[in-house]
Amino acid sequence: MTLSDAEPSRPYFLALLLRSIAHVGLAHVGFFGLGREVFMKVAVFSTKRYDQRFLNAANSSYQHEFVFFEARLTAATVALAKGFSAICAFINDQLDETVLRSLASYGVQLIALRSAGFNNVDLAIAQELGITVVRVPAYSPYAVAEHAAGLILMLNRKLYRAYNRVREDNFSINGLLGFDLHGCTVGVVGTGKIGECFAHIMHGFGCQLLGYDLYQNSECLEMGMRYVEMPELLASSDIISLHCPLLPATHHMINADSIQQMKPGVMLINTSRGALINTRAAIDGIKSGQIGYLGIDVYEEEANLFFEDLSDQVIQDETFQLLQSFPNVVITAHQAFFTRNALESIASTTLSNIAEFEAGKVCDNQVQSAPR
Ligand code: NAD
Repeated sequence: MTLSDAEPSRPYFLALLLRSIAHVGLAHVGFFGLGREVFMKVAVFSTKRYDQRFLNAANSSYQHEFVFFEARLTAATVALAKGFSAICAFINDQLDETVLRSLASYGVQLIALRSAGFNNVDLAIAQELGITVVRVPAYSPYAVAEHAAGLILMLNRKLYRAYNRVREDNFSINGLLGFDLHGCTVGVVGTGKIGECFAHIMHGFGCQLLGYDLYQNSECLEMGMRYVEMPELLASSDIISLHCPLLPATHHMINADSIQQMKPGVMLINTSRGALINTRAAIDGIKSGQIGYLGIDVYEEEANLFFEDLSDQVIQDETFQLLQSFPNVVITAHQAFFTRNALESIASTTLSNIAEFEAGKVCDNQVQSAPR
């Protein structure tokens, strides 16, 4: 059982609180040092050491007051937010109706997301409760696009197998046969900031680009991308990479039907959100050979797995375990964003978002309503 699943007891809260106070560290130093009072007290959820490091470093120019909680924000842990006027959350924090109503009852006025995606927030309820939601719309699209390209090379040239073989003095290259990316057709689903960077990279490899989006991106058009409807993209692409947000309209956009429309042996890459793919359908596609390669940085049930060291536990998610067992599947645990550049950018934008709210300004990064 993870911390977030457990019904927290009072000692649990006390322990978390004490540990968190120890973690506040430099965030408190100079709290009143700039001669102005700090109004926003921010509870930071799902924090790892790297979050604290980058937020504390960026805070030297702001002097916000942070209390860092390692716990994921759920209905079971939301009471930790009592006494705070703002919370800072990450992608697997649950900001559903129950949690939002509790936050509102504690007087929380601001949710500062450390992410671009906001599919984990019930925006309608947040609006009804008068809670402002801000996010980091762009931190490093290069980070995610480059990771997607990394997954492609890893799968195509079977680098994960090659690495292990050479370490064991097995220098055979049998089974490592790949294909040239040059000349391949790459379908980019979602040609926003990350999709555009990804298209640039694949263009550099000499790939033909197909795009599907509700809006055409002029940069992508300039590099020769041809916008097509989804059925044509599915049928014509050797590699399909997903870069659109998770919305009701895109939930399970990759399903048994769409997989059936793909080229046999297609490579499917998802660095966007897990629930864009119906995992059971993907497993069937891998077993039948319709999907030749699957590279994912996100998984629809990742909330109970990713970002934690579970290496000494028996993983109960059989779907995930089955997925792991295939030789043509590479999974990374939501690390596409994880570059120094991205973390610096996330920290500085998050802090400036909080400062703008605190100053009563309209924040450009406010999430207004359900996305288009
Ligand atoms: P963006 O808003 O710049 O681009 C998203 C694009 O998707 C837009 O062009 C939009 O028009 C398009 N889109 C919306 N609905 C669509 C639909 N139904 N079909 C096709 N396209 C549609 O966002 P971005 O910065 O490029 O990020 C894309 C996604 O990447 C985010 O939503 C997030 O889920 C994911 N992401 C993942 C990581 C990671 O670490 N793995 C990090 C950051 C972002």
